[in-house]
Amino acid sequence: MPRQVNRQIFCPRLVMWSGAASVGLYKETEVGRPTMDGLNFACIEEDERLSLEKEFTKEEVFQVLMEMEGDKAPGPNGFTMAFFHKCWSVVEKDVMDFFVFFHRHSVFERSLNTSFLTLIPKKCNAVNIKDFRPISLVGSVYKLLSKVLANRLRVVLDKLISETQNSFIGGRQILDSVLIANECLDSRLNSRIPGLVCKLDIEKAFDHVNWEALFYLLGRMGFGLKWRGWIKACVASVRFSVLVNGSLEGFFGSSRGLRQGDPLSLLLFLLIMKVLSRLLKRTEECNLIRGFHVGAVNSVGVHISHLLFADDTILFCDASREQLLSIKLVLSCFQVFTGLKVNVGKSEIVPVGEVNNLEVLANILHCRVGKLPMKYLGMPLGTSFKSASIWNPILEKMEKKLSGWKRLYLSKGGRLMLIKSTLSSLPTYFLSLFTIPKAVAARLERIQRNFLWGSSEGSFKYPLVAWENVCLPIEMGGLGLRSVVAFNKALLGKWLWRYGHEVSHLWRRVISAKYGEGQGGWCTKVCRRTHRCGLWRSINDGWENFSKHLSFVVGEGTRIRFWLDRWIGDNNLKNLYPELYVCSAVKDAYISEVLWIPEGGTARVWNLRFYRAFEDWELAAYYSLLQLIQTRIPRGERRDTLCWRLKGDGNFDTRSYYLAIQSAANSLFPWKGIWKPKIPKRVAVFLWTAAHGRILTLDNLMIKGRPLANWCCMCCRDGESVDHLLLHCPVTHSLWSSMLQAFGILWVMPGSVAGLLSCWYQWFGKLNSDIWNLVPGCLMWIVWLERNRCSFEDKEKTLDELKILSHRSLLEWSRCWGFTDCSSLSEFMSSLSLIA
Ligand SMILES: [Zn+2]
Repeated sequence: MPRQVNRQIFCPRLVMWSGAASVGLYKETEVGRPTMDGLNFACIEEDERLSLEKEFTKEEVFQVLMEMEGDKAPGPNGFTMAFFHKCWSVVEKDVMDFFVFFHRHSVFERSLNTSFLTLIPKKCNAVNIKDFRPISLVGSVYKLLSKVLANRLRVVLDKLISETQNSFIGGRQILDSVLIANECLDSRLNSRIPGLVCKLDIEKAFDHVNWEALFYLLGRMGFGLKWRGWIKACVASVRFSVLVNGSLEGFFGSSRGLRQGDPLSLLLFLLIMKVLSRLLKRTEECNLIRGFHVGAVNSVGVHISHLLFADDTILFCDASREQLLSIKLVLSCFQVFTGLKVNVGKSEIVPVGEVNNLEVLANILHCRVGKLPMKYLGMPLGTSFKSASIWNPILEKMEKKLSGWKRLYLSKGGRLMLIKSTLSSLPTYFLSLFTIPKAVAARLERIQRNFLWGSSEGSFKYPLVAWENVCLPIEMGGLGLRSVVAFNKALLGKWLWRYGHEVSHLWRRVISAKYGEGQGGWCTKVCRRTHRCGLWRSINDGWENFSKHLSFVVGEGTRIRFWLDRWIGDNNLKNLYPELYVCSAVKDAYISEVLWIPEGGTARVWNLRFYRAFEDWELAAYYSLLQLIQTRIPRGERRDTLCWRLKGDGNFDTRSYYLAIQSAANSLFPWKGIWKPKIPKRVAVFLWTAAHGRILTLDNLMIKGRPLANWCCMCCRDGESVDHLLLHCPVTHSLWSSMLQAFGILWVMPGSVAGLLSCWYQWFGKLNSDIWNLVPGCLMWIVWLERNRCSFEDKEKTLDELKILSHRSLLEWSRCWGFTDCSSLSEFMSSLSLIA
């Protein structure tokens, strides 16, 4: 829901605005725009054109429907998607009739395409109308149509838009742009040649798109008449009404612009932005602008002159008047062609290195002068990831969320939940690109650790369990908190994986040009040079660890080395047959080089070469090798690829890598007995600490150096240890006995808390253990509370009181989850014996 807008201030302006909008924002003012005949655009193929225009199928529509979320704000007819989900069988025919009619006649009832315009404030205390972003709430049926068309368009789009134009489609990601921008800038800074970065803001980008230009462009790109008719029907039949505090103001049509909120809009917008990309490319080809060069000096390398992400545009060029004039010309042409204008007030040029005539240059574009570091797509550009300034906001956010007062009122279980939610809101996109410096990670951990164990400036509390153990997954005996360092490494692993696969992607070409390809092209060469704002070197540092989990799937065999790479089983042939490896003629030969097609044959056979004949004692190894590889002659039909060994399907995912990094597995830890029963969270955390043997009993305090007499205050006989207190102390023991008696069970107490928890869970089988599973948490918690009362308050309960107390707690917890209907304690206790 949009935030409530103060009606009193707003009404006159809004009415004015919807008036202005009806003539200004969505109304085309220019007539007779020039066309773009001189520019070349990629074209779709005939079969693609046909598949775009094929009949709509029930399956296609249904699939789109199921992908849409039910609870998004509804459009003018008030039906949410949830309605269509629920009532599909009833409305199916009507909806499909609509699709068939649309397919045939390229029109639909105009009222289906009315939109509510809701105004979303772009910042706090938005007052001016410019501070609001108009988002369209489109009707459900139209949305369905638009999404179906968008899905079809998406298939052909990747080919049409250029590679410098990243977006949410295909494999192109927002982070690619940020990585490329940082690496380009880094190269430029190192070259010491002055340059300029221009960040452009396109004014009301979506709302100002010229329709004629769009339809013309669709034609140029080879889209058929029918398809263009459909797009025209979708874009040009819109009627708007502005939504203010839930009621409607005005009603007007439009003659330009794409609606933000319509699934088709983003894709159509990308096509429009292709024009800018094309114009810039053309200018670059004519040597009128020169982008930043990446790669060794005097090498061809890669030049990057612009990066577009949706309407975010950034340009790189030399600090020259002529080049800026060319850019200005390009932007004017772009405006004339498409109706999209650069908002000079919000654009900036940023000098790279020593630029002398900066003011003069800025005046050419009439924009302001910025400085490095700057922000690009919400990420830092032009600063080292090691600089504190980029991490401070994250640390502050964490500190603010876990600030002092909350801790006082939360149990350890509650604190754990709060840390988890705070951690999960840490900016993942940030950690997916920037390597977190050690000092920052240590501070993040300190904040969490102090919060969990309750330390603050005034009072120190012991961390009961080592932080590495806390950060293990629950199944491995941890609390399942995320270790920031390991998580960061796992996220960066994704780049290393993509590097091996996305051979033709722009980002990879930039990285390869700059750092050089390693053997086989699976990684880059190791780089020792210091970097200013380059990010790759530190990502690549993870390769050694990452590659341990890789194996190779041989196709052509041109990128995989016969002896050195792991392509059969878990080891490479060099390690399996060291005595043969030393005799091999070419030690780093690729697999394709040790295969050949014999004369007259069609299939490849092995052709290993050794520099000497084998001695008798080496023959066994030689035959064994031949036997091993005999059946594994690669067919050579596909490309060589990587296989991620930690997952069944061979594809990388960050979760499996994260677990591997955190691999100190302790599979014997009784995590199920702690986290599965329906006991309160604070009790579960207590059990977890006890199972690690780390609750603050007197013996543990003595280990930490407190001079104390070790004496159990419950039985006043033995020394106090975790296992004594919770299991073997005579007082505790009789509590256990009374409970076991109620269940009618004879039980031999195991030696340790962990031992008890691991054999207790689900003792009566899956169906009957609900109440039983609660018992350890219930009893140990009561004993712990009583023990603390004894030592700190000097109040004692009698054994009978404790028994009643434990029975009552068990009843309450069981009732809370509906495990029992009994209301009286005696009734409940006698019902327990029936379970067995
Ligand atoms: Zn005792």
